[in-house]
Amino acid sequence: MHKHGDAKTQREVKIKEKIIFSRGKMKKIKIIGAGLAGCEAALQFADNNWQVELYEMRPEEQTEAHQTGNFAEIVCSNSLKSKLITTASGLLKEEMKILSCKLLPIAEDCSVPAGNALAVDRDVFAEKITSIITEHPNINVHRKEVINLNDELTIVATGPLTSQKLTGELIKIIGNEHLYFFDAIAPIITAESVDESIIYRKTRYDKGEADYLNCPFSKEEYYDFVEALNDADKHEAHEFESTFFDNINFSFYENCTPIEELARRGKDTLRYGVMKPVGLDDPRTGKWPYAVVQLRAENNDKTAYNLVGCQTMLKYGEQKKIFRLIPGMQKAEFVRFGSIHRNTYLNGPHILNTDMSLKKKSNVFIAGQLAGVEGYVESILSGLLVAKLLVEKITEVSELLPDTTISGQLWKHLITEQKNFQPMNANFGLLPSLKERVRDKKLRKQMYSERAIEDLQNSVTIQK
Ligand SMILES: Cc1cc2nc3c(=O)[nH]c(=O)nc-3n(C[C@H](O)[C@H](O)[C@H](O)COP(=O)(O)OP(=O)(O)OC[C@H]3O[C@@H](n4cnc5c(N)ncnc54)[C@H](O)[C@@H]3O)c2cc1C
Repeated sequence: MHKHGDAKTQREVKIKEKIIFSRGKMKKIKIIGAGLAGCEAALQFADNNWQVELYEMRPEEQTEAHQTGNFAEIVCSNSLKSKLITTASGLLKEEMKILSCKLLPIAEDCSVPAGNALAVDRDVFAEKITSIITEHPNINVHRKEVINLNDELTIVATGPLTSQKLTGELIKIIGNEHLYFFDAIAPIITAESVDESIIYRKTRYDKGEADYLNCPFSKEEYYDFVEALNDADKHEAHEFESTFFDNINFSFYENCTPIEELARRGKDTLRYGVMKPVGLDDPRTGKWPYAVVQLRAENNDKTAYNLVGCQTMLKYGEQKKIFRLIPGMQKAEFVRFGSIHRNTYLNGPHILNTDMSLKKKSNVFIAGQLAGVEGYVESILSGLLVAKLLVEKITEVSELLPDTTISGQLWKHLITEQKNFQPMNANFGLLPSLKERVRDKKLRKQMYSERAIEDLQNSVTIQK
């Protein structure tokens, strides 16, 4: 494994200082965290002739998941997902190439065979990025944990495993209630994949707008579902998840008990809790069903729905099998599966300006998973966009990214007011519907992708 000694880094810093000062006055940015978002942002600024002060706490201070002192270390799967532009992740990568992403070409150089996916040799990838950054004349590397946020122009890209001291500093600025430590994510499915002859739109006791879709269980169907949950294959919670923030009271986790844990507590727990059917008369029978799973729209266009209360630690294969037992969801198409893990992230819509700076400290910008994107490629995107906005002095994302792009919609997700803000990854459910209804799934995805790429290429900023 490639580790950088302090002496070497100090020497490099001195050499670079000389170069920087000899160039006269440069714009300066401090970036905290040399992960995927921080490295992408650093290279964007540096190549645009900004002076970058990059702080990384590893290897002196490690996270629970990183293993080395290398920058842009990939902590789990080595896959950056599909290369096919007819998939959401493939389309996102294509958009990022148009936006001149720095890390994706490096990933392609370090790729290993993985069918249609872009998978990398994680050590080669991280070592290559570490050396490009360390040798860049416009980047100074500091191997140091940052614990305070001062008045310098700063990007915080410290990721889902942000150190405890810096988390404390963020809490001082934005408040405990806008910083989450765990992700309890329920699956999301496409609207098109639900059976409208079974699922019905209704609000409880017809109070307010009928925003929810309701999946009605018969008695037999409900107990089959509970039994399947009890028999399912589950992930074990990591030990660090329960110990890291011993000294902070995070009620968030308790409110997000996994559905399989609720099922284990008793066969009727779900139907008296998240699946209670009261006030939800089924139009086919005129009666309340035995239990109900409610689906809540994920976007204004109502193209994707969240399974309310179904946060889960079940393995993905099990989720597909078990959630398809829900009436009306036999053919559900999942755009995201549920999960629960330590993931420090901010409630962006409450605390961020549209340019990703903190409302309460506008010299500080947030990038990467900490800002509420989910996934390697999405984190790189976030670093890319924050840098681009600052370099090009743009404050509104719509000036850079059309609404029809995955990148534009992911950005919007981070800053748009919503009831239960949760991190988001690339998925077609984010995109506005096509003008005409296209039944063929493959063709529809192709059309989404062609529309996004064409709109992005025609956008004012790209044409400049
Ligand atoms: C255990 C785990 C597994 C994951 N698996 C996957 C997966 O398989 N696929 C996927 O797409 N996504 C996965 N993710 C989600 C996410 O995509 C990655 O975590 C991604 O690396 C996030 O990028 P980032 O740049 O925001 O943060 P990171 O890549 O984590 O970078 C943040 C950097 O900041 C540093 N840092 C933290 N605090 C400080 C501080 N105070 N001062 C200085 N430096 C600091 C850290 O050492 C780190 O190098 C996983 C996340 C976790 C936690």
